[in-house]
Amino acid sequence: MARFLPALLCLLLQDDAWKTLADPAFRAKDSDRQVALQAFRAQAKDGAAPWVAAQFLEKTDAQWKIAGPAAADLNAFLAKHWSPPAADEAKHKEALAQLLALADKHAKADGAPEVFRLFALAHLSALGDKAAEAAGKLGFAKEGDRWGKRDQLALYTIAKGFAKPGYIPAEAEKAAKGSAAFGPRYVAALLEIQKTISANSGFEALYKSLPSVAGAGTPKAADHMKSLAESLKTAAGCVNCKDGKVACHVCQGKKRTDVTCPLCKGLGWSQKNEKANVLVKCLNCKGLCVFKDAGCPNCKQTGSVECIISAGKGWRDNFKGCRECRICDKCHGKRQIETPCATCMGKGRVPPIVLGIPSILCDGCKGAALLKGPCKDCSETGIADCGKCGGKGVRDGKSPERPQLQDVYTASPCTACGGGGWPLPSLAVPCEKCFGLGVRVKPSADASKVLE
Ligand SMILES: [Zn+2]
Ligand SMILES: [Zn+2]
Ligand SMILES: [Zn+2]
Ligand SMILES: [Zn+2]
Ligand SMILES: [Zn+2]
Ligand SMILES: [Zn+2]
Ligand SMILES: [Zn+2]
Repeated sequence: MARFLPALLCLLLQDDAWKTLADPAFRAKDSDRQVALQAFRAQAKDGAAPWVAAQFLEKTDAQWKIAGPAAADLNAFLAKHWSPPAADEAKHKEALAQLLALADKHAKADGAPEVFRLFALAHLSALGDKAAEAAGKLGFAKEGDRWGKRDQLALYTIAKGFAKPGYIPAEAEKAAKGSAAFGPRYVAALLEIQKTISANSGFEALYKSLPSVAGAGTPKAADHMKSLAESLKTAAGCVNCKDGKVACHVCQGKKRTDVTCPLCKGLGWSQKNEKANVLVKCLNCKGLCVFKDAGCPNCKQTGSVECIISAGKGWRDNFKGCRECRICDKCHGKRQIETPCATCMGKGRVPPIVLGIPSILCDGCKGAALLKGPCKDCSETGIADCGKCGGKGVRDGKSPERPQLQDVYTASPCTACGGGGWPLPSLAVPCEKCFGLGVRVKPSADASKVLE
């Protein structure tokens, strides 16, 4: 006997809860409303009626903006059809017809139509296709095995296909993105995050678009979306640069530096013409050898150069390495290094020395003084060997170190719907806590910024 007690208690509780729902005096008492709400929430994943009842009791009558004649009609309706709720087809049909009539009658009263439509969901769900006409009147269409509004049907398609984004039709995504409601836009944005991560590109556009998904929603939604955007930036932004630029290593970002005369390679003398090996005072630098504080030729006087890891964009699109990968210190990302010619010791000329100047053009470098060669330090990749994502030049993109979904958010089962996501049989009406995903999303940058 003892083991039946909890079930019995639950039934009694529920019985009380239906009374509270139907009686405006009980409903108005906050403590009673909360007790009934908890009882309905506990049953919400098992049936449409408790789910609708919980939705309704989430707010007070005042918050629903239902008063006067509309409230009187609602109370009469609940007393007749919801205490306890309709259980057979005929009763469901009768209740549904009455709700549609009431929604029409009070079409201009503040929150009333919304409340009548909410209760209608329970009857629609129970009747399914047998309520096709009523569903049509509420603006519902049918897709697959569910009735719903266009954007909610799109949400259903996306939430159900989430594990295989390739199979989600483009029209569903488009409808969800264009929805006036937050839920469809939100789930479409989560899908976009997933697709962007697996494509390993498109990060910046996604980063910019995420905050706008919140629209005119709650401050919580705005914070949540911003936090997802920040998580994406941490995961896929380039840590080597600022907006794709790194400070020029030649001028240290000062835009000006001392520049050795490119014509005489700092000797002060250059060849008069190609044939005669006759040296004259350098025509370019007038014998100065070095131009002091000249415009830096390496960065074209901008003070910065393009980051090769983020291709000058600040985001690691298509980069196959990891967050720890750094630009090569030796070649500064140029893949090549310049070394002084060994024959002339970087002077471009060799003895005999005339007036202290080596007078013959060096054969080793043809007078270039510096010789270009591959940077061996980085195997000509421009990126330093990285201990974390593989040795010399091995960046195959298979490394788990490229941005991962869990760098942006983690998910835990939704307790409100028990992970089902769609509590109403035959209707495309999502769990209002998880928008039909069955999971709640925590931004990796700040796990406290959840939707509540
Ligand atoms: Zn960068
Ligand atoms: Zn520079
Ligand atoms: Zn010169
Ligand atoms: Zn790396
Ligand atoms: Zn290098
Ligand atoms: Zn040389
Ligand atoms: Zn849920």
